[in-house]
Amino acid sequence: ERIVGSESHELEEWEERSLRPQNLAQYIGQEKVKENLSVFISAAKMREETLDHVLLYGPPGLGKTTLSMIIANEMGVNLRTTSGPAIERPGDLAAILTALEPGDVLFIDEIHRLNRSVEEVLYPAMEDFCLDIVIGKGPSARSVRLDLPPFTLVGATTRAGMLSAPLRDRFGVVSRLEYYTHEELTEIVERTGEVLEVPIAKDAGAEIAKRSRGTPRIANRLLRRVRDFAQVRGNGEVSIELATNALDLLQVDALGLDEIDHKLLITVIEKFRGGPVGLDTLAATIGEESHTIEDVYEPYLLQIGFLQRTPRGRIVTHLAYQHLNMEVPNN
Ligand code: ADP
Repeated sequence: ERIVGSESHELEEWEERSLRPQNLAQYIGQEKVKENLSVFISAAKMREETLDHVLLYGPPGLGKTTLSMIIANEMGVNLRTTSGPAIERPGDLAAILTALEPGDVLFIDEIHRLNRSVEEVLYPAMEDFCLDIVIGKGPSARSVRLDLPPFTLVGATTRAGMLSAPLRDRFGVVSRLEYYTHEELTEIVERTGEVLEVPIAKDAGAEIAKRSRGTPRIANRLLRRVRDFAQVRGNGEVSIELATNALDLLQVDALGLDEIDHKLLITVIEKFRGGPVGLDTLAATIGEESHTIEDVYEPYLLQIGFLQRTPRGRIVTHLAYQHLNMEVPNN
């Protein structure tokens, strides 16, 4: 199981459920997004209307799914959850939409992976709350319009740029989730420690936060691993020494970079003289999928200024050489 990976695991699921904040007040960080949403939610409730469709975008593990649950909670409605790849045919989407109750929130994760024919069913559903379905075949075929209950679509994607323009335009609220600060992540680690009943020293919590690459999912994952070390090698308490040792053994460095990040940076440096190198070439060289690099690894390396994207490919910066203790080339 990879610490940086975006997928969740069955074993984690029950813990995930208890860790997820239930309302906006418990949701740490993302202040701008929260403030906007709380205004829109209150306004919609005052007018007794459904909330406008919401698009959430940003790297995996930043809290998009959690936010969709909170939106449904705050609106006092049901949440239906699905994902782009799970809706294969227009009929699948029609079945989901017709089963909604008035006001429900429909969450579609990885919404950029909806196929075109499904997307086309979504347009009138989002805009006019109706479905256009064709009955029959050939000359006797006719189109029937079916009314849907009003609903709120919450779409999540790792990159807004991957959405088609007509789909993007149909969201009234578009919010970008940012990487969390160390302070916010420390708060999240402390909260998780309380829920899991693991005593964590203040500096140990801060250390775990620092190595979580701005991502709550990773912070929670690291804490679980460190907790294992604390139980087996210590007395159950997470001290700074124990946390540091455990994180080192997990091969998560002081900035939260793992072995794949290292491999990626070192490959660009050693095999491509620091770049520029194209994404696909890089992916093939290190044996990872291009989209995994683009969605999971690269955004954080860009954020901390270790990697730059240029029209000719990816370039490793001096900061990365310094972090890796490698000599910066003269040119
Ligand atoms: P995404 O859908 O963006 O991949 P999730 O909503 O699944 O991310 O969040 C991953 C985990 O991180 C969740 O289990 C949740 O407990 C935690 N988490 C995310 N955002 C926050 C937050 N703002 N405050 C506290 N915990 C959070």
